[in-house]
Amino acid sequence: NGPVLEVRDLNVWFDGPGGRDVHAVRGVSFDVRPGDRLALVGESGCGKTTTVLGVLGLLGATASVSGSVRVDGQEVLTGGDAAMAPYRWGDLSIVFQGALNALNPVRTVGSQIAEVLPRDGRVSRRAALRRAGELLERVGMAARNVAFYPHELSGGMRQRACIAMALAGEPRVLFADEPTTALDVVVQAQILELLDRLADELGLAIVLISHDLGLVGQLCDRAMVMYAGRAVEEGPTEGLYTAPRHPYTRLLYEATPVLGADRPLRSIGGSPPALDVPLAGCAFRSRCPDAEDRCSLTEPGLTPVAPARRAACHLTDRTP
Ligand code: SF4
Repeated sequence: NGPVLEVRDLNVWFDGPGGRDVHAVRGVSFDVRPGDRLALVGESGCGKTTTVLGVLGLLGATASVSGSVRVDGQEVLTGGDAAMAPYRWGDLSIVFQGALNALNPVRTVGSQIAEVLPRDGRVSRRAALRRAGELLERVGMAARNVAFYPHELSGGMRQRACIAMALAGEPRVLFADEPTTALDVVVQAQILELLDRLADELGLAIVLISHDLGLVGQLCDRAMVMYAGRAVEEGPTEGLYTAPRHPYTRLLYEATPVLGADRPLRSIGGSPPALDVPLAGCAFRSRCPDAEDRCSLTEPGLTPVAPARRAACHLTDRTP
């Protein structure tokens, strides 16, 4: 199967304070094929959400975006908003971070879902609510929940309703930005199971945006780890845990509680670099326990380190 979505050399700049450009996403490339379960992983501020909003053309006027975004081989980035608009909420959809708190409290769930349904000619209110009910059933809720207000639903149910809303345009790729934040562990697992089931049943590709390598391992088979706006490691999720090839991936894993793993948790010291000044050398070097002199001289590029795996570290020439 060919990719639904091809992103190449995506760069995003924001207007920063003092007239300095903030280079928030730096040369990111990835493909999404039907049924893929890809994760964009990294700490808050690493550029993962900005990457996705840049792909979808949702960053607004303060951002400049360059590179290439193709949907079914059709370039949509260089054509501006008019080129992306037919695909947004259609082939490509997103559950935003914090979506479960963004539902309008004074309107029923059904009317909010009905509002985002694609309109082919005139659809009666009754037919739109029936379709909203079907979408709720698809995400494991009873259709009668269309008549409920958000405050009458639990956090998990509200998140399911947000996912139902994101399915209204029958997407082929669903981006889910930290979809389990603010939910307890049991409900988190249920939302992941739901995304897993939707991927299976609908042949939907899921792109999970998460800081949590534990969640990523439960849902995704492929991951791109991001740091300071760049992809620093990418490949099958399994190898990320058993043989991380970038020190940042290793430290991120050591900082993640994973069920059944008997090891102490260690936080990553230091903080990411400012992105409004040019970066010389490896962006991770001030926090990297393995840094060498060469790390401050040149920035490592993504290099193949194993089948289907690439990492951007000068030390990838060493045996893992
Ligand atoms: Fe650490 Fe150097 Fe590798 Fe960067 S290039 S991650 S500083 S070892």
